[in-house]
Amino acid sequence: MVPVQSIATVPCELCGNHDVEVVSTHDRDASPLQVVMCPHCGLVWNDPRPSADALAAYYREEYRQDYKGTLEPKPRHTLRAARVAVERCCQLRGDLPRGEAVLDLGAGGGEVVYVLRQLGFPASGIEPNAAYARFARERLHVPVTSGIWQEASVEPGSLSAVTLFHVLEHLDSPLHAMRLIQGWLRTGGLLWIEVPNVEAVCQAPSHRFHRAHLYNFNTATLDAMGRRAGFEVVRIFTSADGGTVTSVLRKTDGSASAASSAPSLPGNADRIRRILAAHTPLRHFLSAAPYLRPLRKLKQRVSESLDLARNKNPKNLMEQVLQEAFRSGVLSVVIDLSELAAAAI
Ligand SMILES: [Zn+2]
Repeated sequence: MVPVQSIATVPCELCGNHDVEVVSTHDRDASPLQVVMCPHCGLVWNDPRPSADALAAYYREEYRQDYKGTLEPKPRHTLRAARVAVERCCQLRGDLPRGEAVLDLGAGGGEVVYVLRQLGFPASGIEPNAAYARFARERLHVPVTSGIWQEASVEPGSLSAVTLFHVLEHLDSPLHAMRLIQGWLRTGGLLWIEVPNVEAVCQAPSHRFHRAHLYNFNTATLDAMGRRAGFEVVRIFTSADGGTVTSVLRKTDGSASAASSAPSLPGNADRIRRILAAHTPLRHFLSAAPYLRPLRKLKQRVSESLDLARNKNPKNLMEQVLQEAFRSGVLSVVIDLSELAAAAI
């Protein structure tokens, strides 16, 4: 299909150009949604989109209900989020000396903050949805405040790491957010970002775009945005199924001056265009992915149901998952046993 040329209502966040091509006209629910790509760098975003005020209200009040169908995490959500949090924290803690301050932005029900604190990091979180933030404080007893990133009150240079797990794609100005976060970090501090990969072919083509995902990245555009924000890129990688991209960024002495000109990513838009065109419904349904995925989900659901039949208390679920991880060796260095015992009470 020949891409439709257009002029975006907001310039490319990465390279500043206004001319774009339309890559999709609907979201994963088949509702109208115009998704455009910058032909110069390959950044993909929803255009037009709601105002900043409308977005803030949506995330404060509706998003969790809209996305998860609930006002606060149900036990199944906590169990699932706990397992994901353990995986994420295992990766993260290899980069950080124990005891360093970490902020999880978009902290949800506080599961990542909980696991990090059990691993010896004085972690805290910020979550736009008031009910989820309250759940984190009252049910998991971890410090998660309710608010949006633009209004966060963080002492400059006070943090050793900030984590953004599936958050950056929701922000209306990701470059601005990354520069703000840089100010919160000490020199040498890390910014961890995990986002969906626009090149992913593990889901049906019709599920690629989401109205809440304002930006869509691949490794090249996420890497370039980190550099544009003035960070040094420590590493960048995709998940085993290609569904997500993770970038680990470091604030250096020269970070502020490194925030520089628009990047050049020759060939990146062509690459994304080719991948999107090749990922047709027919090819997808002739591959193994659509058949293995439901089987994996069914297995996960049965396993979760067995666990939840024994235990529905959120804090106990977190402890159960942590202890499973220690027993299986996923978390190989056991923390102080007295801390673990105290946390289980
Ligand atoms: Zn661009």
